[in-house]
Amino acid sequence: MTSVLWLRRDLRLRDHPALNAAAGGPVVALFVLDPALLGPAGPARIAFLYRTLRALDTELRGQGARLVIRRGDPVTAVARVVREVGAGSVHVSADFNPYGARRDAAVEAALGDVAFVRTGSPYAVSPGRIRNADGQPYRVYTPFYRAWTSHGWPPPASGARIVWHGEVEGVDVPDDPRLPAGVDLPEAGEDAALRAWRAFRGQGLASYADDRNRPDLDRTSRMSVYLKWGCVHPRTLLADLGAGDERYRKELAWREFYAHVLHAWPRSAREYVQPKLAASTYADPTSAAFAAWCAGRTGFPMVDAGMRQLLGQGWMHNRVRMLVASFLVKDLHIEWRHGARYFMRHLVDGDLASNQHGWQWTAGTGTDAAPFYRVFNPVTQGLKFDPDGDYVRRWVPELRGVPGPAVHQPWNLAQPPPDYPDRIVDHAEERRVALERYQRAGTDPVSRTEPVRRPGT
Ligand code: FAD
Repeated sequence: MTSVLWLRRDLRLRDHPALNAAAGGPVVALFVLDPALLGPAGPARIAFLYRTLRALDTELRGQGARLVIRRGDPVTAVARVVREVGAGSVHVSADFNPYGARRDAAVEAALGDVAFVRTGSPYAVSPGRIRNADGQPYRVYTPFYRAWTSHGWPPPASGARIVWHGEVEGVDVPDDPRLPAGVDLPEAGEDAALRAWRAFRGQGLASYADDRNRPDLDRTSRMSVYLKWGCVHPRTLLADLGAGDERYRKELAWREFYAHVLHAWPRSAREYVQPKLAASTYADPTSAAFAAWCAGRTGFPMVDAGMRQLLGQGWMHNRVRMLVASFLVKDLHIEWRHGARYFMRHLVDGDLASNQHGWQWTAGTGTDAAPFYRVFNPVTQGLKFDPDGDYVRRWVPELRGVPGPAVHQPWNLAQPPPDYPDRIVDHAEERRVALERYQRAGTDPVSRTEPVRRPGT
């Protein structure tokens, strides 16, 4: 009997347990363009998704099939395809995000007697599986990591023989949305993901533990964009790691940990994990300071380089994500949720669990959070992780004429570049204010309009 393979965050054909589970009769590969999911995404993530769908369709056409694309609410769209082809089952990789889980329950209910079969998930170990000795979910990464490694995961799934269902009506993948000039996205699709992984294994993995914090060297794997859409499964990456690749395994485990936290506490996507800090005071998110942060014009070169990389590539190096997030929350005193929303719009790898918890970690409000008194210093972070200033010069053209590490403090130059902005805040002063704010948190009334102090005011 025909099965529908409803693809979501598993846009690949290899190492695909749900596809294997659907095999046995003819399979229809379906993707639904769901407005609820596309809404928060900006043009870069949407363009990358469309390119990934086109790559998958091309691969399917090579096998005499096609990717069936439908638009609209999946509750009606999936049921309609099931009726049209007389399918006996719908197969998916389980979705553990709050919206995805609700949507799947609604689709399952709408399908009635047609089986809705969840096989695998976008994680090596599905969220909810790992619990502590009391049967509770872990709140802290390190014990989670130990439990996760000892739980283990299956090897990559080998391919089953698939008979694809012939012609089923669908719409074309829409044209890419208009991207701002100069936006540079990685090549999309499963083959591109596997090529990028092979290149990283050959060139970057051995030095990853040493170089991963250096945005100037650009030696991280860039797998996040492919993991986001499941062009590659983390199991495939984990299977290639050796005993010496612990650091990379630990980073993949952060992704698993955050998915596990979101599954255990679905409200952590929007609400403070540390409720006490919700009563903190915040600056106005419609201020000029927020606009300067978004545009990469704060006058702090390392922050500005990161924000411009985000706009230029839909991606930002992890070290710089932490720095710009700290700067927004602790120098500009703007609530983390505004930064998280902006990231979710612009990141090609924008992932609810990793993004929201990455922000809460930096803001000191999350589970396992960086302590609130850790305030990243944009200058020392720059000098340490971009020691020659190459990263800043790559992303901030106004500073290209400044040689060496002096680029991190253009205000000290005899002639600061005239088209680069002055610092919008005094870091030392705002650090003091942030620490005071955190100490007051939980005792003061909530005020969201505290002004941001500027140097000299
Ligand atoms: P690599 O260094 O090569 O790491 C390999 C993989 O490990 C990554 O692809 C990713 O899947 C995982 N990983 C590494 N670090 C983390 C981490 N801190 N948290 C979770 N997973 C991690 N990652 C996203 O995938 N989507 C997001 O929306 C996202 N938002 C973030 C927001 C903030 C404020 C911060 C501080 C971090 C965020 N991260 C997010 C985590 C991290 O920055 C990216 O996963 C990483 O930069 C991706 O680049 P890479 O693939 O080259 O990473």
